[in-house]
Amino acid sequence: MSYQHKYVDGTSIHFPMGKVVCIGRNYAEHAKELDNPVPTEPLLFIKPGSCVVPLEGGFTIPADRGSVHYEAEIVVLIGKPLTKSPTREEILDAISGFAPGLDLTLRDLQSKLKEKGLPWELAKSFDGAAVIAPFVPAETYDDLTDIGIRLTINGEVRQDGNSSSMLNPIVPMIQHMAACFSLQAGDLIMTGTPAGVGPFQAGDDLVLELTGQTRFESSVR
Ligand code: ZN
Repeated sequence: MSYQHKYVDGTSIHFPMGKVVCIGRNYAEHAKELDNPVPTEPLLFIKPGSCVVPLEGGFTIPADRGSVHYEAEIVVLIGKPLTKSPTREEILDAISGFAPGLDLTLRDLQSKLKEKGLPWELAKSFDGAAVIAPFVPAETYDDLTDIGIRLTINGEVRQDGNSSSMLNPIVPMIQHMAACFSLQAGDLIMTGTPAGVGPFQAGDDLVLELTGQTRFESSVR
């Protein structure tokens, strides 16, 4: 299914699909579970817009490419350009919405790439590697350091995190990202995953939530 940014009430958001700027190891408990050091500098990577698929109605994972891990993440939709060193106010003004999303990762392949010191695109940037739910408007949250994200698979809660545990909170994270890559209306930010990542199997049913705000059922094909 083709992807178009939209709000939970079904309203389309008329930004083009941009890039997806991601941060790795942004929750200490998640860095530990994969035996990764907690980074001293934010670890950034980009997924192209071609990765993005909607959560609703189910999504496909690659077959025969080793384990495909879910990473449930709070996703920020950028609605205005941000470049160099935007202020806190400019960043808050540029955020159009928040959604839960899945940063899908070919984990076996990523482990091999990491061992060899190679970039991660092959493991992180395949078609369908960013699964995005509809957005709640930015005004939904007064406090960006208290946004909950939860993933339940086949009735079992697998990830249950909150932006309060981020090593790089949302506003300083976006400030750093904008200094590295100009952000444009339609870009997405994936803000890192809390602990509890693991493999998806075709046929899994899932519930992805911004806890207490928005809840979506979906399935893996
Ligand atoms: Zn991630």
